[in-house]
This record gives sequence, C-alpha cells and structure tokens, in this order.
Amino acid sequence: MKKYITDYSKLDRECYYGRDDLGVTVDGEITRFKVWAPFCSCVYLNLYTGGEGDNKIQTLVMRSIENGVWYVELMHTCYGQYYTYTFEFAQMKRIESIDIYAKACGVNGERGLVVDFDELNPPDWNDIPKPRCENPVDAVIYECHIRDFTIDPSCGIPDSEWQRRGRFSGFAAKGTRCGSVTTCLDHLKELGITHVQLMPVFDYATIDEKKPFAGKYNWGYDPKNYMCLEGYYCSDPEEGEVRIREFKEMVAALHRAGIGVIMDVVFNHTYYTEDSAFHKAVPYYYHRLTHQNRFSNGSGCGNETASEHFMFRKYMLDALTFWVKEYKIDGFRFDLMGLHDIDTINMLRREMDKLDTSILMYGEGWTGGEPAYPADKLCYKWNSYSFGRVGLFNDNIRDGIKGSTFELYGTGFVNGNDHARIAIKRGVTANTRYRRLQGVADDLCWAFTPAQAINYCEAHDNNTLWDKLAISAKNATEEERRRMDKLAAAIVILSQGVPFLHSGQDFLRSKPKVLPEGTPLTDFNRFDENSYNAPDYTNKIHWEDKEKNIDVFRWYRALIMLRKSSPLFRMRLPEELDRHLHFHDNNDIVAFELTGDEESYFVIFNNHRDDRHIDLPHGTFYERLGESCRPVYKAVQGSVCVPGISCVVYKKLT
Ligand code: CA
Repeated sequence: MKKYITDYSKLDRECYYGRDDLGVTVDGEITRFKVWAPFCSCVYLNLYTGGEGDNKIQTLVMRSIENGVWYVELMHTCYGQYYTYTFEFAQMKRIESIDIYAKACGVNGERGLVVDFDELNPPDWNDIPKPRCENPVDAVIYECHIRDFTIDPSCGIPDSEWQRRGRFSGFAAKGTRCGSVTTCLDHLKELGITHVQLMPVFDYATIDEKKPFAGKYNWGYDPKNYMCLEGYYCSDPEEGEVRIREFKEMVAALHRAGIGVIMDVVFNHTYYTEDSAFHKAVPYYYHRLTHQNRFSNGSGCGNETASEHFMFRKYMLDALTFWVKEYKIDGFRFDLMGLHDIDTINMLRREMDKLDTSILMYGEGWTGGEPAYPADKLCYKWNSYSFGRVGLFNDNIRDGIKGSTFELYGTGFVNGNDHARIAIKRGVTANTRYRRLQGVADDLCWAFTPAQAINYCEAHDNNTLWDKLAISAKNATEEERRRMDKLAAAIVILSQGVPFLHSGQDFLRSKPKVLPEGTPLTDFNRFDENSYNAPDYTNKIHWEDKEKNIDVFRWYRALIMLRKSSPLFRMRLPEELDRHLHFHDNNDIVAFELTGDEESYFVIFNNHRDDRHIDLPHGTFYERLGESCRPVYKAVQGSVCVPGISCVVYKKLT
C-alpha cells in the first residue's frame, strides 16, 4: 500500500475502475453491491434493519473481481435495508464504514440504505419541466440556507405546522405571509429570481440529526456523505427515505414555480480525515499529501481532496450525474474550487453538457490554504481562461462596490470611495476584455465571457452588505446607507455577467452577533462575519424586515424586472460589449449607454452625496427606473439631475 502513497498515478494506471455501477444496483430481484478497495485483503458487506444500533441481519464475504473492486449479490431486493462495508487490511486490521457511494443513509449518515427512488417521487415528478436557462447571464441567483429561510415564526408557516419550519418542506411553502408581505416560495416568485442556490443539503457531519432543536446550527461545509441528503432538514432523519421524499417535493414545488435549484457542493475537503469513509476504504488515496506524506491542508479545514486522482475525479462526476438525474438539480456551486484541478472541472462541464447544457457551474476561484498541487493546474481565478465555461465569484466587483471584505473600515464605490470607480466600470463589463478600457486596470480583466463573472456584493461569508455599511459608513445617516445599499444592488444587477444575491439582502439582512451578557459593543463584535455555527438568532431570516424595508425589496425587484426585460443587460459575448456598451465621458460618476438595434438605455450610478447634473446622450429619453421603482413617461433631453447616492436608468424613446 505504501508504494501507492507516493505514486498514486501507478494505482490510477493499474487499478482505475471506470464503470458506473459502484454502490448498490437493484436489477429485477437481484441486489448487487460493488466497492473499490484495492488495498484490502478482504471486504465484507454488513446488512442491518436500522440506520444505527445493534440490529445486524447478516454479514457476507465479498469477492475480488477486477481492478480493486469487490462484489457481492443477493437474490432479492434489499429495499429498506441499511448497509456498511468492513474493510480488512494486512495484519487482520478491520474497519467498518459507510459506502462512499451510498445514495441514501440512516440517521447521521453512519450506514447506507437501499431505496427504490421511484417510489419516493412526487406524483407529477416526471411531468414537471425543468426551468430553462439558455445562457448563465439569464440567471439571477439567490443563495439560501434551508434552516435560516423558515426557522423564524415570521416566515408565516402556521404554528400548527411548526415541524415544517427550518426544513425542506417549509422552504417551498405556498401562500405564506408576514403581515402584508409574501414569504417563502411566494417571496422568491415575487422577487423574480430564476435560481435558488442552496447552501449544503448533502449529508454533513457536525449536527446531531436527532436533535434539530438542541440549539446547534451549521452552514454545512463539513461534508460527510456527498451523495446523501442531510437529515437535519427532514421531518424524520431516522427513516432514510423521508429526507429523499421531502427534498424531491421541495424541488418539485420550486420547479413548478419556474425556479431552478443549484446545489452547493463541497468536494474540496472531507470533514473527517483518517475517519472519513474515503480514507477508511482506500487509505491516503483520495486526499492530497505533502512531500512529507502528511495530509495537505489547502482547504483550511484539515485536508484537501485530490480531484486529479482518477477515482476521485470519477467520484465527483458520478455524484453530479446522480444529483442531476435523480433530483433534477439545475446547477452546482463549487466551494473552494481553486483546490480542484482544471482538467477535472472541464471534464465535469463537458459531461454536464451531455445531460443538459443549461446546468450552471461556477465556484470560488481561491483556496483556504496552500494546496499540494501546481498552481497553474488549479482552478484559481487567475487561470480563468483555461476553464472559460465555468463561472467564478467576482471578488473585484464585490470589493469595488463596498470595500474590502477583509478590512472592516474599507470602503468602496457606494460608501464614498471614488478610487473604486474603475473597479465598477470593469464590473459593468463583466471583467471581460472590453476594448475601450484596454490599458486601464487590466488586472481586473479576467473573464472569458460575461457568463464567467458571478457578480455579487453579499454572500453567506463575511458581513452582510447592510452590516458592512453600518460600520464602514457610520457617519452616513440611515437614509444614506439605504441608498448605498440600493446603489450596490443596481451595480450587481445591471452589470453584464451573472447577478448573485444573498437571501434577505433584498430587505437589509443583518447578522447581529450573540455576545455574553454585559459585553460592550464595538465595531468588531456587533456583527457576525463568519456565522457558520452561530445560533438561529444570528442567522435566521427575519421576515418582518421585509415589511419594514419594503422600499428596498421593491427596488431589487424592479432591477431584476428591468434586467430580464432586455437582452442588452445580458450580453453573451465580449464582442457584443464592444459594440453595444459605451461609457459616458463624465468621470465624476459611472454612466454608460447600452445601444441596441431596437432600444437604448442610459444607466447612471451616482455615488456622491449630492445631486449631479449629467448630460444624456443625443436623443429623447424617459426615466425607465428611478426612485419610484416605476417608469416615468415624460420626455427628457439634455441635462438631467441625478439624486445623490442613486442609480437612474433612462430609456430612449424611439
Ligand atoms: Ca448529517
């Protein structure tokens, strides 16, 4: 075994297994189990009646067949039975583990489960069309955490159905209200987003699924079983079928509403290292090792996986394929994608295209530590052209809008930093090679096409926009900060590229930190900028905020409607930008004209506290979007007055 630790490529050459039947397959009355464990001297299959506890039915010896694969078959369907493998290595060392290919599991992901997935489909599952998305720039992505979204009673799910709160079944609740405003699914429809990006819903490690109300919380970036669902979000984690049924019902409800579902996938590390199911089956193979043969920690979470190793590469493909085919998933967001090698990500893109070209793929073009792999072969943002069809979070527009994420008092364009103007201009061009900005901040030009730039200024990481403004613009009035927030949204949504919003951002979400009683409040402790395990109090969506900040919500909605109304806001090729996008030569603000064959827009971002008089381009315009969130059908020409800290969009009268 040791020889392979230093030369995994030898193992890949000699023992790669390429078929798609690892895990359990039920074929008529026969149930087959296959597992890849090339270092083992023997492998056993254990069958149980439960997901935990002392209830073993039997143990069967598996037989070594080809390329390190072990196999056993039973002459009946094992539906409803739980299973594990026992891996035996030299010196009779035995270790029991869940199958990395388990597609269903019992409570806390300790044992796999054999299920008949078709039995768990909602009645009209096969008739519900998947939402179409011709090009990623047509998407408007909204990042949500299942529990945050409905755990507060203000979500409008009645007390009599309180069990649905914080779970799959509550997420897509229909007809719910908080006071005068919509919540849950109706909220998503009203806002007009096209896709929800769900923070991890695969099985993660750190929450005891049996105690969902024990005051524990996690975002879920602690992966345990990549092909299983998390049990914390279903009404009965002890019955392995329940999470599957309830998740499918949620996807069905979202699809019926025309909303796509993007999964956040965290293949870059495993929560456990020596105790992970990967290491138990094939020690040292699935993770990257340092020159000293220690686990490399490029994730900052204790280890990093080795996407370049053939069987992990295949595993990623098999997992994505499974989620698409079984659950109709519409896209994937790759956590710390900088840790994955470029060849793997490009292969995944090609394979997803074969299933459905509209499947979205994007990720973080950075890592959480130093990876044990050559930097020029990894999906770092600076290698973007090598994987041009996979999107990247645009940290340049993010920091340009509001200031550096890592400097509490850092400011950007909306909170008064005029130096950020160029970052905004580059952001407007989706950070593509836009000819007329050549020579100006060329380091901000990295996207192969607009679709590669995932534009955002708030996500689950770091302070919310509203909290960031509270600290970095504390001398501004609350009204001014509201205007800054709205201007930030306008930049995200009206720039070329793919807009991305964080749930609740559209009504000034805040994450107040929970502090021991009597702690004096400072700028450094008021808000939680890394709330991954903070209580619900910090993380949950307060739907009352929507009613209170309905003006902000309406503005976001109006921006999304405007974006969807014209392809000029959603250009697909850099060449189109050269032809249709022109910046205004007034360098005091950021303004640009979008000229199409049939329509033209003039967009102005004024970040100054006072009004600015701006000359419109030649022609007659009307105010398409301004403070009232509605068009003002009055012809204007020449100079217009743009209110302080605001965005106004004019449309040419034809
Ligand atoms: Ca779990």
